[in-house]
Amino acid sequence: MTPQKAQTTQTPAKASKPAASWLVFATAIGFLGGMLVMAALVTIFPSGVAAVAEPLIQAAPRKVEVKPTRKEEPPPVAPPPPAVVAPPATAFGVEVEMLRRRALTLPVQGIEREDLRDTFNEMRGSSRRHEALDVLAPRNTPVLAVEDGTIAKLFLSDAGGVTIYQFDPSETFCYYYAHLERYADGLKDGATIKRGQVIGYVGTTGNAPRDTPHLHFSIFKMAEDKRWWQGTAIDPYSVLR
Ligand SMILES: [Zn+2]
Repeated sequence: MTPQKAQTTQTPAKASKPAASWLVFATAIGFLGGMLVMAALVTIFPSGVAAVAEPLIQAAPRKVEVKPTRKEEPPPVAPPPPAVVAPPATAFGVEVEMLRRRALTLPVQGIEREDLRDTFNEMRGSSRRHEALDVLAPRNTPVLAVEDGTIAKLFLSDAGGVTIYQFDPSETFCYYYAHLERYADGLKDGATIKRGQVIGYVGTTGNAPRDTPHLHFSIFKMAEDKRWWQGTAIDPYSVLR
């Protein structure tokens, strides 16, 4: 009897086990079903959820992000480094500005400012800096006085060939034109000249390559004694460009 009793007592226990399992199973189904219904509702009516979510997610970052993109638009392109170590450019900043205000005439007929190339710091030989502006042009292209002044000296030299030294009206600066094919007719030492006047013609005299006619043009600030052959070079490109 005892084992039977035990069996009978076990029977309700055995019967209650599947009942509990069913309960768990039903709860799970119910839960999953609920989730599915919720998911379906969200899919069908998303606006209700979105309306709450959107301002929270988008409002703040959108405004912050737009502003910097507009401010930063084109990042400035860094200029290429100069080929040769730069001269003390600020040393003659005042003189360059003074000359720029005069809006000098370009010294070669038919040349535009965009055609000019800065050759001031190029090396000529191993130790000498060019300190001038070379303007390429066909042989016999008229060379023009950059501003009013006087002919300080018509000079023939080994390096420069047929050259002109011109003083500006205040006799502060001297303009130097070299490698000329020839002078303009009638040009003499001490002559008063006008801006834009033809004073010579492009050539290859002096040490210029025979196949590269060009004007070698320089500007220098004279010392107190105003000697036409002495002074400190100023970059003509900075003045004329
Ligand atoms: Zn030159």
